[in-house]
Amino acid sequence: MERKKILLISTGGTIVCRDRGRGLVPVLSGADLLRHVPRVSELCDTSTVDLYRLDSTDMTPVEWQGVASVIHRNYEAYDGFIVTHGTDTLAYASAALSCLMRNSPKPIALTGSQIPMGQRGSDAPDNLLDAFIWVCHPEARGVHIVFAGRVIRGMRARKRHTTDTDAFESVNCPDRATIRSGRVMITPHTAPVRYPAAGLSDKLNTNVALAHLTPGMSPALISRMAEGLDALVVEGVGIGGIPDTLTPILTELADNGLWLVLTSQVPYGTCDFTVYRVGRRIAEACGERVITTRDVPVEATFAAAMWALTQEDFPTAFTRALKGDM
Ligand code: ASP
Repeated sequence: MERKKILLISTGGTIVCRDRGRGLVPVLSGADLLRHVPRVSELCDTSTVDLYRLDSTDMTPVEWQGVASVIHRNYEAYDGFIVTHGTDTLAYASAALSCLMRNSPKPIALTGSQIPMGQRGSDAPDNLLDAFIWVCHPEARGVHIVFAGRVIRGMRARKRHTTDTDAFESVNCPDRATIRSGRVMITPHTAPVRYPAAGLSDKLNTNVALAHLTPGMSPALISRMAEGLDALVVEGVGIGGIPDTLTPILTELADNGLWLVLTSQVPYGTCDFTVYRVGRRIAEACGERVITTRDVPVEATFAAAMWALTQEDFPTAFTRALKGDM
């Protein structure tokens, strides 16, 4: 069988960090990373692109689009892609790439580490090797985070711990696979629906913000926050509730053309804005400008809104982005 060709795109994060006396800063290259994991050369042929050297705290949608562009340009030439990235905003990046590469038949794995490559006890060698093992696996396709032996769908990931090496969880969805001692174990019944490849895109509309509602929050704050936006993701409470004091301002904003995406600040369970009156009244007041989500993490909701705004029909595209989540 022909050896696979895998492109490693390095963007920064702890995995490439060193402490130069003023805190950890990203310094290593993709080639440096590979030198620490010689077993990769037994698996596949590799090339590297050092795209950014950023702490992922400083990554923005511009950089996600940059990663997408590199993948697009190299899509035909490689069998799979690995993006090394800081863990702090990795779930946002994986969701954004899931939208930009919807239904990709080729695998794209994002990984990073909690401890820098080359430091004692680092999780970096295992995570990087696992990412290569995953993208070389015959059933791998679409966008996933590979971390701590877990393969998590790009649209389902959430950072769950600041220091634990098992730093990510898959929200309301089983892991696609686990990897133990180099062996991939696919979780039964998790194969993604094989939608036709959706075509690649590298555009996001960044006029989106996230409003985490708190008790007593002032309508003026929402109003200021919504200035210049095309969509506002509103994290309501519980299964689905928006305080009545915010209904008038949200209605006014929707009447003026803002899309409202309602979700919950509770990560687990389904979201249903029809159960309580406090959920229904906002949909009734704002009509077609309101979209609700069911069970995806807020990072994915946010990225899907950015992508869907670049498509012709926002509600249809938004729903497709959440459904076609591979
Ligand atoms: N601050 C780092 C980053 O997100 C943390 C990490 O990579 O684990 O880039």
